[in-house]
Amino acid sequence: MAKKPFRVVVIGAGMSGILAGIKLQEAGIEDFVIYEKADRVGGTWRENTYPGLTCDTPSHHYTYTFERNPDWSSYLPPGPEIQAYFERTCRKYGVDKFIRFNEELDSAEYRDGRWHLQLKSGERDVADVVIAATGVLHHPSIPDIEGMESFKGALFHSSRWDHSVPLEGKRIGVIGTGSTGVQIISALAGKVELIEHYVRTPQWIMPVENTPYSEEQRRSFRDDPAALEDVMQTKEYLASVNSYTQVITRENPEAAQFWKDTCLANLEASVADPVLREQLRPDHEPLCKRLIFSPDYYQAIQHPQAALVTEGIERIEAGGIRTSDGQLHELDIIVIATGFKPDQFMRPVQITGANGVAMERLWQERPKAYLAISMPDFPNFFMLNGPNGPVGNFPLIDIAEHQWHYIEQLLEKVRAGDGAGICVSEAALDDFEQRRIAAAKTTVWFVGGCKSWYLDAQGVPASWPWDYERFVSEMQQPNWDHFEMTTATVSDAAETVA
Ligand code: NAP
Repeated sequence: MAKKPFRVVVIGAGMSGILAGIKLQEAGIEDFVIYEKADRVGGTWRENTYPGLTCDTPSHHYTYTFERNPDWSSYLPPGPEIQAYFERTCRKYGVDKFIRFNEELDSAEYRDGRWHLQLKSGERDVADVVIAATGVLHHPSIPDIEGMESFKGALFHSSRWDHSVPLEGKRIGVIGTGSTGVQIISALAGKVELIEHYVRTPQWIMPVENTPYSEEQRRSFRDDPAALEDVMQTKEYLASVNSYTQVITRENPEAAQFWKDTCLANLEASVADPVLREQLRPDHEPLCKRLIFSPDYYQAIQHPQAALVTEGIERIEAGGIRTSDGQLHELDIIVIATGFKPDQFMRPVQITGANGVAMERLWQERPKAYLAISMPDFPNFFMLNGPNGPVGNFPLIDIAEHQWHYIEQLLEKVRAGDGAGICVSEAALDDFEQRRIAAAKTTVWFVGGCKSWYLDAQGVPASWPWDYERFVSEMQQPNWDHFEMTTATVSDAAETVA
């Protein structure tokens, strides 16, 4: 059957936007554009440049499945190498010529069977399909600490690192104990005059050996792709993959035992001072927050020029941080490593679907989408790594590839001329959400006794609550009964796919 010509707009040129660019070309779709608000590709890996930036997914897993990278320098990939990988892959697959840099979307409205887009530059576009590839953690969460503006030194969020500020000989305070704060402490302890780690909630630390790959190993991966695939089958790789494929719930608490035992043994064996050890001991279940993998945090925090601060932060003053015991910690630099607002996705873009339905109305209670991909009344609007997807512990590149496999089947349906637009029905989304929320409330993210960015404003984990196998299986093929087609001329009318 003849394919209908149609235009696609992709929002964002990070990992999933580049993937969309590659896959659209593979599907023979050349009429598309990727709008990127910044001047480079890379998303998270472009924005985060802090010292010690590393991904905690083993490097050979942190690639597209169709574009392995034999040249990773170590078991855990450093941030700059990941950024270079995406830039290189984007060029290699010819995606760069489809990207419009420094173009930020302002609004998108579905009218008369097509998406009408308004860019901040004043330009407009009209498309049949919109793919939102805007990422999850990209709006910094800045805590409301009294006196922040009065600080006389340099103060910045970890994802807005100010490289014009010299670090040598400086006293630095890092607020936040997520993966970011831990990586910064590990990178800077012993290299600056003093580094203080402000810890509100200690985290479980999973030990990992970040072994470098030798030139010989890299050559063998280059010469023999099978050798690279073999390395991904080694015990240490499979152990880390295992951590991604499981979701700990009330039904399988024993699955957390390995992680509990290993993190506990790491704490006991690595921290000599009993007082410091107790200060570093978490009071929640391991895996309740996103587990931190670190080869060297415990060593770093015990460095003579490093200090753990567990007293609460009272306020920030001109000279440093005043803690609740009245002490002023004099500092030259304060790093806000307090994470991101996880509920933003395409926000602040104003998105209006069929029938004038605003996305903000649909998301009033919480961001939601059927299988993290489709929303009712938003025909041909699909998300990669959308709300309540498997952001918990599965590698996001792999997730995006599976989601693309699903989205491309929806696209094919429209391209084949079966209708103008396709989106999930309201009933199917409601049913999905009910089941998802019920399952989420059994997970360790809910019952593990901690607060984390996984929890939405209602305290429900905003993540895929089932295991990896179920996710992969759901992504194989759409259940067409759950979708509705819109007609070309009457954008407001919807009928169930026959
Ligand atoms: P995060 O995990 O959300 O951690 C934020 C930290 O800031 C927490 O320790 C939190 O303490 C603390 N905090 C927030 N407000 C505070 C306040 N007012 N006073 C004191 N402390 C405060 O943020 P992140 O470390 O940037 O990491 C975000 C996510 O990015 C990670 O979970 C991960 O998914 C991703 N990431 C991944 C890697 C990687 O290697 N793959 C590296 C970096 C980041 P409480 O726990 O007490 O709330």
